[in-house]
Amino acid sequence: MVGELYSQPDMNLRPFAAPWRWTPGTACHICTTWQHEVVCAACRQRFHRGGHRCRCCATRLDGLNGLHELCGHCVQRPPAFDHAFAALDYAYPWDGLVTRFKFGGACELAVPLAGVMAEALRVAMAAAPAGTVLPEVLLPVPLSGARQRERGYNQAWELARRVGPALGVAVEARWVERVLDTPHQTGLDRMARMHNLSGAFAVTAAGRIGLAGRAVAILDDVMTTGATAEALAATLRRAGVAHVQTWVLARTVRDDVDP
Ligand SMILES: [Zn+2]
Ligand SMILES: [Zn+2]
Repeated sequence: MVGELYSQPDMNLRPFAAPWRWTPGTACHICTTWQHEVVCAACRQRFHRGGHRCRCCATRLDGLNGLHELCGHCVQRPPAFDHAFAALDYAYPWDGLVTRFKFGGACELAVPLAGVMAEALRVAMAAAPAGTVLPEVLLPVPLSGARQRERGYNQAWELARRVGPALGVAVEARWVERVLDTPHQTGLDRMARMHNLSGAFAVTAAGRIGLAGRAVAILDDVMTTGATAEALAATLRRAGVAHVQTWVLARTVRDDVDP
């Protein structure tokens, strides 16, 4: 369509003659450059931070120069999930985007955030050692009915329904449900969160058939203390799931920082 416009003889008339033909642009949510993506390629590259993470809970282990595979918490008390993956740090500029996505009604941010997550996962899966178990099914962390009505969407589902197809992994939103609405977790430590979340999740009738013996990945937007993933993973284990990973868009750098 653009080529067709450029081929017209009177170039000066083009914007006025057919303004509806211009490709719509947008301002990058991070640097505000006017271009065609909600988060531009330059920002995605600039604010991606690699580095070493705990194999089990994805917390940063940068100071340890790759000497340890697991953090102290996971050595002392291994979580109910086998492995966690985080695409980003919950830090500038992603923390602001996630807050807008999760609490500000900016559902359109699911597209670039899921894109960043899928790309990081693709790289991690390609680099994984032989024999690494890859999940067969993605399970977005469910919200309670009341919370979903209040927000209008489930941010974990909005990510999962894009990340799953991008990586060729099935997504199941009806195999687990949230049966207990927990108070906002902000300001609570790990033990208080774990207490709040006990009994929060249940496997549905369809899930009981589908989950037994499977390798799955729980998908959520942010992991703070890991209490949500822990509670859901424990529920899945009781339903006979063989292998549980946790995939999150962003991981807090320290456990005591609340999203
Ligand atoms: Zn940008
Ligand atoms: Zn760990």
